[in-house]
Amino acid sequence: RMTDYDVVVVGAGPAGSIAAKTAAEKGLDVLLIEKRQEIGVPVRCAEGVSREGLEKFVNPDSKWIASEIENAEIISPSNHKVVLSAENAGNEVGYVLERKIFDRHLARLASKAGADVLTKTSAVSFKRENGTVKLGIRSMGEFSEITAKIVIGADGVESRVAKWAGIDTTLKLNEIESCVQYLMTNIDFDDDTTYFWVGRKYAPGGYIWLFPKGKDAANVGIGVMPSLAEKSAKWYLDRFIEEHFPDGEIVEVVVGGVPVKGAIDTAVADNVMLAGDAARHTDPITGGGIINAMSAGHHAAIAAYEAIEANDYSKEFLRKYDEKWKLDFGESLVRNKKLQEKMMRLDDPTLDRLAESLEGMPIEEMSVRRLAFELFKKHPRLLWDLREFI
Ligand code: FAD
Repeated sequence: RMTDYDVVVVGAGPAGSIAAKTAAEKGLDVLLIEKRQEIGVPVRCAEGVSREGLEKFVNPDSKWIASEIENAEIISPSNHKVVLSAENAGNEVGYVLERKIFDRHLARLASKAGADVLTKTSAVSFKRENGTVKLGIRSMGEFSEITAKIVIGADGVESRVAKWAGIDTTLKLNEIESCVQYLMTNIDFDDDTTYFWVGRKYAPGGYIWLFPKGKDAANVGIGVMPSLAEKSAKWYLDRFIEEHFPDGEIVEVVVGGVPVKGAIDTAVADNVMLAGDAARHTDPITGGGIINAMSAGHHAAIAAYEAIEANDYSKEFLRKYDEKWKLDFGESLVRNKKLQEKMMRLDDPTLDRLAESLEGMPIEEMSVRRLAFELFKKHPRLLWDLREFI
């Protein structure tokens, strides 16, 4: 095996595999390393993505699509329901993935494109030497050093590459959602619908979700903002399940943190770029990060190619990558962070009134303008508060 690479990608999640695939397609020598024995396992995700986002990178394949989604139902604390339907409201349709298979598929695409892929291999040390990086890896228990011109840190929410490179991605207390999710069977739902329960009663500073996985199972999970929650995320979820799905069976448990930081200033340092959760690329409102991770991985790989062409791996050169991800989705991170902070402050009666005023509206009229008009009639104060987002 080689010890000298153009690009070493750390982490084979969606960000890392797309980065490795794209860089290999550009003709670079690429190594993709993943610390886990099996790519994609265990899953720490509710697995929901928009169709449009996904199809930019891969052709949908029934092998790793668990459900196709046509509707989203948002449920307020006093049970007012707002249904957004793909057919009538022109909303995005989506998929619930089988990430165990999806992540493995992406890694295989990277390998097919020519990247070397090593599982059960962790990045454990990092030093810069003669303008390159000496990355220490532990593969199947054995330590060795790899030289890389560029390291792409796609190592997820607990990124070590970010710390080694000195890129500030610190999460303050109000910048990480604490999540728990159960894969459940023996519960009732429409298998083409995702459900969101909002309000402090359910999930302070976050929401509860149900994402179908086929007809018989669903991901039922919660994210809460620890600074607003009096109890643990699990406590709120268990109470919800007792009330809504008393006969449900839990077959898998997932815990994890989702960064809701908004956009960081820079995701680059000399020889290093961060992509995906490592760079806090998750959406602050939904907590969704798969599509942004893939986009970021793609942009990072293109920037790596250009840097290697120019023989310049400096932070200044790699800022091209910052420009690319910011242009692509950086603005929506900033905007949704602001909106998330506002939404966290809405109390349950306000959410109920909001949902109530939308509940009876003919669905084909559910345009943003129409929404704004209805809200303005009923709640002038609220509209004022949200004016910059409309
Ligand atoms: P990851 O998928 O986390 O991959 C990082 C990889 O790096 C891991 O495989 C890890 O093992 C590896 N790694 C870490 N350190 C090292 C090391 N030192 N050496 C080698 N390898 C290393 N997003 C959505 O879009 N839709 C959802 O419905 C959704 N639901 C979620 C629900 C929960 C409960 C949680 C916690 C997250 C959810 N997300 C969702 C977010 C989504 O899971 C992440 O944004 C996405 O996985 C980010 O991809 P990534 O490639 O950046 O990182």
